[in-house]
Amino acid sequence: MKSLDIAIAGAGPAGLAAALFLHRTGHRVTVFERFDTPKPLGSGLILQPTGLTVLDRLGLLPEIMTRGSRIDRLRGSDAKSGRTVLDVRYDAQRKGRFGLAVHRAALFGVLHRTVEAQGIAIETGSEIVELDVGSAHATLKRAGGRDIGRFDLVVDASGARSPLAAFSVRPATRRPLTYGAFWATLDWVGEGFDANALMQRYRRASVMIGVLPIGSDEPGGKGQAAFFWSLKPDNADAVIAAGLDVWKEQVAGLWPETTPYLDQIGDFSQLTLARYGHHTLKVPAGRRLAVIGDAAHSTSPQLGQGANMALLDAAALAHALELSPDLETALGTYARSRRLHVRVFQMLSAAFTPFYQSDSVLLPLLRDRLVATVAKVPPAPQILASMVAGTIIDPFGPLGLREKDWNRS
Ligand SMILES: Cc1cc2nc3c(=O)[nH]c(=O)nc-3n(C[C@H](O)[C@H](O)[C@H](O)COP(=O)(O)OP(=O)(O)OC[C@H]3O[C@@H](n4cnc5c(N)ncnc54)[C@H](O)[C@@H]3O)c2cc1C
Repeated sequence: MKSLDIAIAGAGPAGLAAALFLHRTGHRVTVFERFDTPKPLGSGLILQPTGLTVLDRLGLLPEIMTRGSRIDRLRGSDAKSGRTVLDVRYDAQRKGRFGLAVHRAALFGVLHRTVEAQGIAIETGSEIVELDVGSAHATLKRAGGRDIGRFDLVVDASGARSPLAAFSVRPATRRPLTYGAFWATLDWVGEGFDANALMQRYRRASVMIGVLPIGSDEPGGKGQAAFFWSLKPDNADAVIAAGLDVWKEQVAGLWPETTPYLDQIGDFSQLTLARYGHHTLKVPAGRRLAVIGDAAHSTSPQLGQGANMALLDAAALAHALELSPDLETALGTYARSRRLHVRVFQMLSAAFTPFYQSDSVLLPLLRDRLVATVAKVPPAPQILASMVAGTIIDPFGPLGLREKDWNRS
């Protein structure tokens, strides 16, 4: 296909990775970002073997590896009895596999620096609000109704609250989830914690506390941890009104080893309230429009796949454009190549979230009694490992990718 003029809305992981892939395959790319200074929001996330393979394809694996914490296990236990109810090892399905927990700033920094180094244009302070598609081109509009320019293709990477996904073939409504979480980035405290594991404590499904080691976003810097506390966003004001000491007492009562983390929190302003929602576009494309990342599918971060799916989408779109004779065929190929993987993981996230974040009494009981026991019997450890790794459905083949050989990294 001839070289296209492509506009990408959003400089998150999806938009920046897409910019790199599309620039590399000869297209003229401009990224439009609403913030004056592109910046990552939030705390830590886990890059799974899927996302790490995409970063490897971009040549960015060595750099990101110096800015995170290798994760080998996910461990969860009941806060009252101390009984282990979740223990997933990445290498149960494939030897050598691991996750890499990073601060969002680390992932953003690695992608953003490379985009800049390659001379790809990023127009900041550009909030895209509308798309006008004609037969020969698509016109993007900024807030205030001003045209931004004409493009052969618009890539919507503007996240879960995208204003452009409404222009896809079958728009979807985002369903807010009852539970969200308070998140904070704190200094890593080793004692009582595993530097290579995501550790969680549960009390039924209404309480979940997590500590994730995320390394440092600068090589050799001080280690950090992402700390989270599950709660209903609707209850956040009441928690804040009751005061920090009351909240800390509750957390420490359930997980005393977190006290050195709680001591680092002097004000609720150090905690970011994350609200979660769920939606999946049936067709992540429209006329001259490709929708990628959270704009196409968002969910709760229970399975830790969102950023990884965003990276896979970016690779898939570039691959489809490379293979196809024309834009329309490419958009269809892109949508098909991601369909099964996205649907299965969106479904799994929707199914698993209530076991960890809901008001149900029955589901956490099943989780702690039945699932915890069954999870130890093969092939359950392998299935759980491939679910966490994002590989229960092969995401690589349709994208022309092969999973990295982890034994050689
Ligand atoms: C608390 C929390 C924990 C998570 N943990 C994990 C995890 O462990 N593993 C994992 O893989 N995922 C995790 N996720 C999900 C992950 O963060 C997202 O899936 C990922 O950031 C999606 O990337 P994106 O580029 O599609 O969207 P975003 O990261 O949301 O980026 C969108 C970009 O578009 C910009 N933008 C928005 N609107 C406009 C507009 N109108 N015009 C121009 N620019 C615009 C935004 O400013 C932003 O820069 C977590 C999410 C949350 C909230």
